[in-house]
Amino acid sequence: MSSAENDLYQEVVLEHKRAPRNFGHLEHPSHQAQGTNPSCGDRVAVELDIDGSTVRDIRFSGQGCAICMASTSMMTEAVKGQDVALAQELQKHFRAVLTGEEDPEEAPLGKLVSLAGVRQYPSRIKCALLGWHALMHAIAGNQEAASTEDGTGTAGGAA
Ligand code: ZN
Repeated sequence: MSSAENDLYQEVVLEHKRAPRNFGHLEHPSHQAQGTNPSCGDRVAVELDIDGSTVRDIRFSGQGCAICMASTSMMTEAVKGQDVALAQELQKHFRAVLTGEEDPEEAPLGKLVSLAGVRQYPSRIKCALLGWHALMHAIAGNQEAASTEDGTGTAGGAA
């Protein structure tokens, strides 16, 4: 990757790791799911307050590597207050960029594009997708723990 892309990526990951957004719990979540990434040891739980078709509020908790925590933190920022359909679209594009199916410069990712650098590190892609994976499970109303190793894996059910 270019050094500018690398710098931005490092900076964003460290900043979110230091001060994760929307970290904690909701009092009465309408939807929730957990995600685990056994290959790295990341675990995150996502709690949502979905009102009609809008993600009114969101929190996440858990422990993981810097990329997992930063990506989940950025995910919560990106989807809070947005339509569920938009969250699903973002997940699709974010996954496609990280797996190399979509050019980051053409994907409508907003700030999330600063994590596009993760695609250079295949072993970390699951870390970056875990929070989104849990989000998709929560939206789908699947209360079971989502795992990056469970077959639906990084496909996030979007296949
Ligand atoms: Zn990780």
